[in-house]
Amino acid sequence: MKLTEKLDMLQTKYMGEWLKARREVWDQVSSQYPRFCICGKLCTGLHENNCRRFQNRITSETVKRLSHLLKETK
Ligand SMILES: [Zn+2]
Repeated sequence: MKLTEKLDMLQTKYMGEWLKARREVWDQVSSQYPRFCICGKLCTGLHENNCRRFQNRITSETVKRLSHLLKETK
């Protein structure tokens, strides 16, 4: 399954879990990199919201964390 397919399924069938896990991953990554974003730029208020590298990281970590949901529906 491709990442986009996984994403699609998670957001369709497991919206609640998706949002919850995404928030947890976001907090975790964000607190691991409190001053500088993973892209190396200074973390200012809205940077993480607009940073593609940060967003990609959050998305792939969240998919990984929820992969058990995807196996069940195979
Ligand atoms: Zn960044």
